Amino acid sequence: EPVLYIVATPIGNLADLSERAREVLAGVDYIAAEDTRHSGRLLAHFNIKGQMISVHDHNERQRCEHIINLLSSGHSIALVSDAGTPLISDPGFHLVRAVREAGYRVSPVPGCCAFIAALSASGLPSDRFQFIGFLPSKSGARSQALEVLSDNAETLVFYESTHRILDSLKAMREVFGAGRYAVVARELTKTFETIHGDSLAGLIDWMEADANQQRGEFVVLVQGAEKSQDEDAIDPESERILRILAQELP
Ligand code: SAM
Repeated sequence: EPVLYIVATPIGNLADLSERAREVLAGVDYIAAEDTRHSGRLLAHFNIKGQMISVHDHNERQRCEHIINLLSSGHSIALVSDAGTPLISDPGFHLVRAVREAGYRVSPVPGCCAFIAALSASGLPSDRFQFIGFLPSKSGARSQALEVLSDNAETLVFYESTHRILDSLKAMREVFGAGRYAVVARELTKTFETIHGDSLAGLIDWMEADANQQRGEFVVLVQGAEKSQDEDAIDPESERILRILAQELP
């Protein structure tokens, strides 16, 4: 049976490629990759020789037809992205939907995902969280996106790059307030892995004082808003008075 496998790859440490991911990548007829040169290096490292197809943001929709044709002629395919789990701030959604709609099996080969790794080690509440991924790059749109989230009580999870990390933290300070607690997870699984938590103001000072802390890849996790007093809730004094009044009612 032809299958489209969705294969997670490492986010920095090559030893994180699972045994099963290796077997699947070695066994499929084609490997669909976001950047064939980048994934080619990963495959070469593991001595896997696969035929590559490029599937990135700009050609994904056209590539669906081609890949469905390959499945219909009995070929199995693995989808990988540059790092981590495909579809998570990476291409693949249109392909998975189209392949499922065409009636073929899609099977995940799970593994690394930067935000799950960050959340698991952040010390922030992990029972409920909202994954936002990358914020818009334009400052107006970014602030707007943050405004919408500012009363959210769940942990907020963002992806960020070297170029924008400071600007984004400053925008968060502006919208969420200087005292909101947040955690920056940088270069996970790599040599300079750093997980640092402080108020947004504190994080910005710390990062401005050491330019090295602005380098690399980041997950930013922001503590959810303090639950504001439920507007419908009755305060104890009103409740006491209501009880007295209720006693007087027939
Ligand atoms: N699909 C990937 C995943 O499963 O995490 C995410 C791909 S997205 C294009 C790349 C972003 O993920 C980076 O800009 C960064 O925010 C985050 N990221 C990837 N690797 C990371 C790492 N080793 N440490 C921290 N963040 C990382």
